[in-house]
Amino acid sequence: MGQTARTGPEAGTLSEVVDGVYAWVQPDGTWWVNNAGAVAGDDGVLVVDTCATATRTRRFLDALGAATAGAPVRWAVNTHQHGDHTYGNSVLPDSTVLIGQTAMREALGSDPLFEDLPPVWEPVPDWGDVTRRLPSVTLDRELTLHLGGRRVDLHHPGYTAHTPGDVVAWLPEERVLFTGDLIFHGLTPLVFMGSLDGALRSLEWMRSFAPDHVVPGHGPPLAGAELDGVLAAHERYYRFVLTSAEDAVREGRSPLECARGTGLGEFGDWADAERFVMNLHRARADLVGEPLDLVRALTDAVEWNGGPMPTSL
Ligand SMILES: [Zn+2]
Repeated sequence: MGQTARTGPEAGTLSEVVDGVYAWVQPDGTWWVNNAGAVAGDDGVLVVDTCATATRTRRFLDALGAATAGAPVRWAVNTHQHGDHTYGNSVLPDSTVLIGQTAMREALGSDPLFEDLPPVWEPVPDWGDVTRRLPSVTLDRELTLHLGGRRVDLHHPGYTAHTPGDVVAWLPEERVLFTGDLIFHGLTPLVFMGSLDGALRSLEWMRSFAPDHVVPGHGPPLAGAELDGVLAAHERYYRFVLTSAEDAVREGRSPLECARGTGLGEFGDWADAERFVMNLHRARADLVGEPLDLVRALTDAVEWNGGPMPTSL
């Protein structure tokens, strides 16, 4: 179950990607352990995502405050709806303007996991004193922030990919791209609340920015030169899920039966491998035109894993 010898989110580190642009990376990047980031402008700081728990978010904001001499966090953006990137929103100062895509705001507003997490992860993260805080500013496709002289463009791909409300943050001058969970660097990608087709499309879209630096939603930051290889691995994985799901639908096998009968091959080394089952649920739902059975996808992943999915407190 891989629960031993993990380096947990308490070992999060803030690194300066380029002058005044930061990546907050929490090891080991598995379930509920995300990356965040920040951009310091002339008149305040933009935060890119919060963390799953109050403690983790405070740890991030403290490190950021130390690096920016206490500059005010004037803006924050959520790259998507998932709790590991958003549940800490309420830890941000009240004065921080929180931004998100329209569909993201809606989804966080109705996210059933916030109050009632099924017993599928262990241990359950210690959320702390977080409350559900939604963006007060929404965008549909694009929004540009001017942090003094520094420009940050927020872009939605125009379709559902990792989730319906994905947003990337792009610094055109510094050529830094914050991708949220459109990239899982070295871990199993998760697309069960999104779309396999959209996730595939988003790869070419991210490539088109031609970034020099990329901060993914999970896993270590990468240089632009590494991006092609990382995107190619995502493409192979998404196609593997799609092909497996197509075979299973044709042969009348359930996602769980399909996962049990399919070797993971080159993807077996990635953490959170049980996401294969959940991703198969998404692929199947879209192939047969049915809504995703969220609870079944989660419980099947637990079944395949042989117990609750490991995460950190
Ligand atoms: Zn996510």
